[in-house]
Amino acid sequence: MKSFSALYFGPDLPAQGTKITVLPENDGLHLQHCEISGETQEQLVAYDELRVSTGGFDHDQIILMWDKNEKTRSLILADKTTQDFLLEEAPPALAAKLAQCKKHINGTRQRMRAGWLVLALFLLSPFILLGVLVWKSDNVIDWAVSHVLIEDEQKFGDMVFEQYRPTLKLITQGEAPRVIEEIGDKLGLDAPYKFKWHVADNPAVNAFAIPGGHIVVFTGLIKAAQTPEEVTGVLAHEIQHVVQRHSLKAMVHNAGWRATIAMVTGDWTGGMLGGAVTQLGVLKYGRDKETEADMKGLALLKKIRVDPNGMVQFFEKLSKSGNGAPIELLSTHPSSTERMTALREAIKQQEPWHSEPLPYDWNAIKSSLPTR
Ligand SMILES: [Zn+2]
Repeated sequence: MKSFSALYFGPDLPAQGTKITVLPENDGLHLQHCEISGETQEQLVAYDELRVSTGGFDHDQIILMWDKNEKTRSLILADKTTQDFLLEEAPPALAAKLAQCKKHINGTRQRMRAGWLVLALFLLSPFILLGVLVWKSDNVIDWAVSHVLIEDEQKFGDMVFEQYRPTLKLITQGEAPRVIEEIGDKLGLDAPYKFKWHVADNPAVNAFAIPGGHIVVFTGLIKAAQTPEEVTGVLAHEIQHVVQRHSLKAMVHNAGWRATIAMVTGDWTGGMLGGAVTQLGVLKYGRDKETEADMKGLALLKKIRVDPNGMVQFFEKLSKSGNGAPIELLSTHPSSTERMTALREAIKQQEPWHSEPLPYDWNAIKSSLPTR
């Protein structure tokens, strides 16, 4: 093997990348690719210009990046043979970076396997799986889920989040993630979970909870809110989907038959998680569980002295606005008159409710978000 093929991405290339031939030479990578006109283009990228990272849905690809004319170009090495070949050919400085990525990739693979093990363990035995499969009854699932240790649930949740992460454009810098985390930490202070708050750049009005405590808030939701109280109400509600294990139960419910097949065939690499993961943002919990999350969420708001009317107003406002960003939150949380009446009633019953305004300038937080 003297050369290898890789997918090449650049500003003037198709979005899905172009397959090219790469020859490692003494002073750099020699790239050969055919332009649309048909003629072969060649370029040499010096080894010390290359930045190395991992990527891909399972984080098992190596990405080489470099800048040319202020524009970023990249090569994706998808398979192990190519990665190993370049590792052998590369000069020491680059080889060290590649080796580190390989280590990371192997670590991810091991975590994935550990995750399957956790899943298999917390489903305890094929008998429970069989029960889940045959009865698909909420009682069976509740019983199985009640035997799951929080620690195992968190490991499972971390793995689910890692699967989901590449599909999210996470925002880690700035006011929005800081404030969401600050509010979230206050709400989750006494919960048995250590919550991990994420803000993702997505115009949909949505927030959702992953078993074990990852909670994802879309920028669309932050932008649709007018006050921090409105968002805090949604966060208090989402926390309860974790604490009451609604999201874990829903995932087990959806995964039941897939898990059973995996158990029978011994193939844990199948699309089970993939299927579960794609449903995360639009997982429906059912009316009882939504009511439970509403009521227990209210109690949380009271505990940290936040005005609960923000929550009600927010859902009512969303159900009235019919255009603009997709309101995914409403597809999973219909703001029926019934639900709003129940919320208002519960607020009334808990009076007097001493609330203190949250000290955030919501417009400033919104304008700190990326515009599109
Ligand atoms: Zn909900």
